[in-house]
Amino acid sequence: MITKQKGTYDIYGDNAKKREYVNSVLDALCEKYNYGYIETPVFEASELFHRSVGETSDVVTKETYDFKDRGDRDLTLRPEGTASVVRWFIENKLYGNMSDPVKVYYNMKMYRYERPQKGRNREFTQWGFEMFGSDNIYSDAEVISLAYNAYRLLGLEDITIHINSLGDNESRKNYRDALIKYFRPHIDELCDDCRERLEKNPLRILDCKVDADSDILKNAPRTLDYLNEESKTRFDKLLDLLDLIEINYQVDTSLVRGLDYYNHMVFEVYYKNSLALGGGGRYNGLVETLGGPSVPGVGFAMGYDRTLEVMEEEGINIPINDSIDVYLLAVSENEKDSATYIAQNLRLNGFIVETNLLDKPLKSQFKSVDRYNSKYLIVLNDKDLEKNEVVLKDNKTKEEERVEINDLADYLDTHM
Ligand code: AMP
Repeated sequence: MITKQKGTYDIYGDNAKKREYVNSVLDALCEKYNYGYIETPVFEASELFHRSVGETSDVVTKETYDFKDRGDRDLTLRPEGTASVVRWFIENKLYGNMSDPVKVYYNMKMYRYERPQKGRNREFTQWGFEMFGSDNIYSDAEVISLAYNAYRLLGLEDITIHINSLGDNESRKNYRDALIKYFRPHIDELCDDCRERLEKNPLRILDCKVDADSDILKNAPRTLDYLNEESKTRFDKLLDLLDLIEINYQVDTSLVRGLDYYNHMVFEVYYKNSLALGGGGRYNGLVETLGGPSVPGVGFAMGYDRTLEVMEEEGINIPINDSIDVYLLAVSENEKDSATYIAQNLRLNGFIVETNLLDKPLKSQFKSVDRYNSKYLIVLNDKDLEKNEVVLKDNKTKEEERVEINDLADYLDTHM
């Protein structure tokens, strides 16, 4: 038997229906914020992720699915959405007319070669969004508000935004230097990867999963102490805005995020202050890093699967349709032909219809009516069909009504 690959999953049944519901909530919300939908290819040139996500990030050093195609191209399955969206933004020269920000959202599968565990898969979905062209705190606040409201609309009440600022380039550089100075004497006590990170990207040490509990990390310098005046004022003003729109946040000075491209504000969404369900931040240098002009960007990505899991664990009511409208019972060839005709007509009029596709006897067709939880049933018979009529039975009240076949859709429209 060929089985699915480690860390992947099939989406079907109730899970598929639940995702449909989550998608509809997220789509409607993005519409309110005026974000358009984008989908990018599953694979991109490897260089895209190496240059953007960063050579020293775990995602690129250990987790990407890299392969060569038959044309000897170096390709990578996208491990995250931002780099691809930035590539799209540059490739289509959308920076040419920036009289308004460009705002897009996505709902895409991502691929990371990680050790599968609860809430961590090799193929997983992220819902996320990006905004290009605005560098002010109002766009920061909009992005945080959109992320926050997404979880709240999905029914997750206990949401906290953990937020920090890495500051502008000058502040980030000062902080970087301070970290190198601080970590150098302790470097032998840290893991091999951290030793590698010291000169290349010391911020990453703060994000290390191996050394997460070490006192060396806990006592490391804090970003906020290295912000220049401008960056500090900016961050304080952003927090004021979050107060204004009543976002539940907490400044978390240890938050640096796993990807290389962030500056100014970075944030993560926590459920019950313990489980990270998504993260984002500002990335003003990224468009330039990937070959475009200097255009500011800010965005967010939700761990979709993990969010849905938490909704299920918390018993949040996820409305799914588990019934059909009409089951057509048919035995003779003429009845089955008519069922095909009526089903076609009703489905085109928007009703969910099921028929006997297994040549089952009538008795077991009645069982299907209940299994499908059908609102109505029609037992077709040659005599009625001759008069172009059927008897429509309400499966709950058991009431019956004789209806002309051509009037069925209208009748159901007024009675459902
Ligand atoms: P990141 O792009 O690493 O900042 O991740 C954003 C969110 O995506 C995280 O908070 C997780 O909820 C989710 N996520 C990241 N990696 C995985 C994975 N391997 N499997 C499932 N969800 C993930």
